[in-house]
Amino acid sequence: MADRFDVLVVGARCAGSPLATMLARKGLRVCVVDRSKFPSEVPSTHGIQPTGVSVLDRLGAVDRIRATGAPAIDRGSFRLNDVFVEFDDRLRLVERFGSPMYCVRRVTLDQLLLDMAAEAGAEVRTESAVTGLLEHGGVVTGVETAAGPITASLVVGADGPSSAVARMAGAREYHVTEPGRLFLWAYFEGARETEGRIRLGKVGDVAMLAAPTDGGLFMAAVAPSQLDKDRYLSDASRGLSDGIAQFEDLADLLAPATRVGPVRVMARWHGYFREATGPGWVLVGDAGHFKDPTPGQGIADALRQVEKLAPAIVEGLGGGDLAGQLDAWARWRDEDAWEMYWFATDLGASGVTSPIVSQMMRDLVSRPEGALKFLQVLNHDVRPSKVFKPSAALRSFARLAVTQPRTARQLTADLRGIVGNEVQRRGLRGRPSFEVARSGGGRAAELVS
Ligand SMILES: Cc1cc2nc3c(=O)[nH]c(=O)nc-3n(C[C@H](O)[C@H](O)[C@H](O)COP(=O)(O)OP(=O)(O)OC[C@H]3O[C@@H](n4cnc5c(N)ncnc54)[C@H](O)[C@@H]3O)c2cc1C
Repeated sequence: MADRFDVLVVGARCAGSPLATMLARKGLRVCVVDRSKFPSEVPSTHGIQPTGVSVLDRLGAVDRIRATGAPAIDRGSFRLNDVFVEFDDRLRLVERFGSPMYCVRRVTLDQLLLDMAAEAGAEVRTESAVTGLLEHGGVVTGVETAAGPITASLVVGADGPSSAVARMAGAREYHVTEPGRLFLWAYFEGARETEGRIRLGKVGDVAMLAAPTDGGLFMAAVAPSQLDKDRYLSDASRGLSDGIAQFEDLADLLAPATRVGPVRVMARWHGYFREATGPGWVLVGDAGHFKDPTPGQGIADALRQVEKLAPAIVEGLGGGDLAGQLDAWARWRDEDAWEMYWFATDLGASGVTSPIVSQMMRDLVSRPEGALKFLQVLNHDVRPSKVFKPSAALRSFARLAVTQPRTARQLTADLRGIVGNEVQRRGLRGRPSFEVARSGGGRAAELVS
């Protein structure tokens, strides 16, 4: 006899566990299964945008996050070569966004979210891999696990980039993008700074993210270009140090610190949308969509998606039109993610930043509200197209063509690229170009001591 639930959630991290919590609190019979043993890491840095923290707050998770020692992040800075902007107290970020950022290690965050799902009444089964889908008349009716079948009215794939549910349900990928960067990160003890400040930046062809995290540790991540992959992978420890050295203030605050544990590396990934739903199944979080991690969106996206999906499921299973609810949610997801997907792709593209983009950024942050606008884009409050407009690129081009006439040829090529991308993406909107699902389409991580 198979166990029977209303909803079976595959994957118990920042998409799966909050969804299980929300549904169980609404009285649904929920089972959440994960092949991992918890607590455990997943290959990811973990700056959580305020919009994601707001969801965690509504879930009741923020007090638990505070108890981990992770400081609330309400200040920071962004560097793009010689363009530098401080996000200081004058921006009143928490007041404006409703929440601070947090940077909590996934080994800590995911356990805490899983505990909440269990407390809400969801049945939690870890170290239990889903190996197959049960179907009846073309409708998914449950899953196979090593411990036996589990049936449910709805199967949710919250099982990350290498989603077994997506693969087995035949969800196709569309708008696929190639990786621009690889990511190296580690934790440090004894950093000069422990207050809640985030550092973001790109110097030359290396991007950076750094912030204090839970347990009194400091997280530093660098993202060199995929073009330099072999060099960075041949000695990741040295690669991380070289990357950090590009950012003087970061190098300075880490000077007295000691690295704790290995350097984490993530080099193999790609960006995609996946068909989000079909008869008896739906995908949420990275299982359904993944974008370049450079702007740090994935955790907040997963949380926002889940908060929108939970009421659709409750309504659909409560006698409403479940398929219609899920289809509407899937359309919302694509629309919600569209602009940020391409913004992230551009931000993380390999190569040095075009002088046109640097000039746009310089112009933006030279205005008092510009720094805030940039953060509002990262927080999903303002669409990238409202801030980084083609007209601004044209103005920057015109200005640079006058002040740096010798680079006119390169500037013209850059402008063509920017405008060409814009035109192509407008043409793609609402018209998915499907790819056959890639085998092993997920990310692959390494730990390098
Ligand atoms: C290098 C890197 C840096 C990043 N940095 C940031 C950042 O700073 N900020 C941010 O917001 N986002 C960041 N992200 C994105 C973020 O990591 C993801 O968006 C987020 O992890 C998505 O969560 P999820 O729950 O959908 O999937 P996951 O966290 O991948 O969880 C999926 C779970 O499913 C389980 N699973 C898989 N297959 C099966 C199966 N067959 N049976 C049972 N269980 C299964 C896995 O064990 C896993 O526990 C980064 C990503 C990468 C790669």
